[in-house]
Amino acid sequence: MKKLSIRDLAVAGRRVLVRVDFNVPLHAGGVADDTRIRETLPTIEYLLKEKAKVILCSHLGRPKGKRNPEFSLRPVAEHLRMLLDRDLGAEVQVGFCPETVGLQAEEMAARLEPGSVLLLENLRFQPEEEANDSGFSRRLAALAELYVNDAFGSAHRAHASTVGVTQFLQPAAAGFLMEKELRYLGQALHDPAHPFVVILGGAKIADKIPVIESLARHADTILIGGGMAYTFLAAQGKPVGDSLCERDKLDVAKRVLARAAEGKLRLLLPVDHVVAARLEPHAPHQVVAEIPAGQKALDIGPRTVALYAEQIAAARTIVWNGPMGVFETPPFERGTVAIAQAVAASSATSIVGGGDSVAAIEAAGVASRITHVSTGGGASLEFLAGQELPGVAALTGKTA
Ligand code: AMP
Repeated sequence: MKKLSIRDLAVAGRRVLVRVDFNVPLHAGGVADDTRIRETLPTIEYLLKEKAKVILCSHLGRPKGKRNPEFSLRPVAEHLRMLLDRDLGAEVQVGFCPETVGLQAEEMAARLEPGSVLLLENLRFQPEEEANDSGFSRRLAALAELYVNDAFGSAHRAHASTVGVTQFLQPAAAGFLMEKELRYLGQALHDPAHPFVVILGGAKIADKIPVIESLARHADTILIGGGMAYTFLAAQGKPVGDSLCERDKLDVAKRVLARAAEGKLRLLLPVDHVVAARLEPHAPHQVVAEIPAGQKALDIGPRTVALYAEQIAAARTIVWNGPMGVFETPPFERGTVAIAQAVAASSATSIVGGGDSVAAIEAAGVASRITHVSTGGGASLEFLAGQELPGVAALTGKTA
């Protein structure tokens, strides 16, 4: 069902609780990377222009249900004020409430002026947030009259601020970032332009099996790289040396390969590898077609890059999640960077998700040439696996 949009709400003069994803890295008392804050500015600025009273809530890090100043959102409030002043060319009131729910939060919310912002303290200082506790959800809901969820990256978690709160606060609508994510990912899953090429990498096959199984029904080609490729190669009886290999997942890999063999899906595995005896920066390495005993495959080789790039060039829809090698450790980033460049050069609708692949396209300097860089790694994977995201399911359906 289509969900209510922020545009469908009459927000003027009303208190709107917005779940955002301000889970940003902090450094020396400031925000080290404000990408996530900037991603949600269209929603916040729209509400301010419409003269809403904006109450923002987010998690930051993993404080495990305890108050911990290291994970306070206070520096984020300062940073947000600076961004809003710059964008809107006027001084915007951005208050910070040192508690998440409670008397002080209620008082500050009640005193909010139209066109101003209040940021609540880290949701995860309260164990009730992740427990989706209904008492906590009720207190959060009591702060506002309307609810907007713009935290796509947290929509796969049924927490108080993403799910519980909607039992007490309706209507619940999607913000602009949430809508954008659902539009791009939804189109890739349900109505992709063909050929539809999926590139999957990363360490573990276990996390990606539901995605592979779901996308196998929609995609024309799946290109496998990263650590998970070696479980597939082992399932084909090929030597993998000391490479990452999930022996307990061999049967799953065999099943996927058998399905690909009988269907129309083309599933490609690396045909050459960059191997080394040890994983360390600038370790002696070589390119091989067959992985020798005692060696670890740490990246895809140049023939694999060429093979994959050919598929990427012919694609009209591309979804990429997970690096092709141990891209954090030079020189094993080369395969991932080359794939990033191939995706950027293609004229397909390209969607990249997952922290590592996003970092790779940024490192390759091609982020601006990707159609949609998803802000939610886990959420985008669950969406592509065909699962309903609890935070999306909880939003009010659109009737007309
Ligand atoms: P994931 O979180 O599953 O997307 O996995 C990302 C991690 O996979 C990164 O930290 C990579 O270093 C790692 N990775 C990618 N390729 C390999 C490989 N060939 N061997 C070991 N780890 C790898």
